[in-house]
Amino acid sequence: MSLREYCFDGERKLDLDAMPTGAGDRKAEKGALKAQTEENLLRAAELQERMYAEKREGLVIALQARDAAGKDSLIKKVFSQLNPAALKVTSFKTPTSTDLAHDYMWRIHQALPERGCIGIFNRSHYEDVLVVKVHQLHKGYRLAERCLTDDFFERRYRQISSWEQYLWENGYRMVKVFLHISREEQKQRFLDRMELSEKYWKLSVGDMKERALWKEYDEAYEKSINATATRNAPWYVLPADDKWYTRYLMSEILVKTLEDMDPQYPPLDPDEAAKIPAAMQELETE
Ligand code: ATP
Ligand code: MG
Repeated sequence: MSLREYCFDGERKLDLDAMPTGAGDRKAEKGALKAQTEENLLRAAELQERMYAEKREGLVIALQARDAAGKDSLIKKVFSQLNPAALKVTSFKTPTSTDLAHDYMWRIHQALPERGCIGIFNRSHYEDVLVVKVHQLHKGYRLAERCLTDDFFERRYRQISSWEQYLWENGYRMVKVFLHISREEQKQRFLDRMELSEKYWKLSVGDMKERALWKEYDEAYEKSINATATRNAPWYVLPADDKWYTRYLMSEILVKTLEDMDPQYPPLDPDEAAKIPAAMQELETE
């Protein structure tokens, strides 16, 4: 499958059941794709440098996934190849009481990177239409009656799409990535966390309870992806069972997005340029 087939930009509907969770017949190309990943990351770093110098656009990559799908290791292995000075990683955990005392986009908006930088959202505003929907958490929120309508989540899809379009119109690009893991692979990774001492720290028995809600999450993901996939803020549904393949696809997305942005080193300011001959002479005669 090519990158295009993992992309949802509003042209076609996502049917999650029809999307692969593994590398499939591309397993045969593993060596070549791993080498391609390295090349892509070098290219991405070069484009990031231009983006940082130009400071015209910001990029946000929102990562969404079930537990153990590999968000953390994707960040560690792929985004660590970029210049950390121009990178901002934000993890969105259970909202604090201060977060909940504001609108849900409040904490998200504050985490935007400056233009010229790349922001990685480890979870994002999509939690507010995923975990909140599956567990109906909004019903426990302190909110005016008029806010708790039957179309609460339809409203949120609309708000999210409008906010993402707002970002686009204000010099940001947003790319959303769903790491699609199979039930079987998640089970295996949870078992590893229970058996391997170096993985104990990742273990949270509470996460396992969410497995009982697998179908509900599938539905919530499908709905929110279909409602918010647009040309200016596309979704990518990436197979997550084979980590090397997820990394390869993520590196392709990174290069594609940065190439679409086409950042250029800014030219020298004419006033500065005029001062160069004298400055050179000064240095040479030092
Ligand atoms: P790890 O891979 O290390 O488990 P994680 O992203 O799952 O990382 P945790 O601290 O384990 O981090 O979990 C964060 C929890 O916060 C998740 O269960 C997530 O659903 C929850 N969360 C995030 N945003 C919201 C939100 N807006 N409302 C309610 N819960 C949220
Ligand atoms: Mg967790």
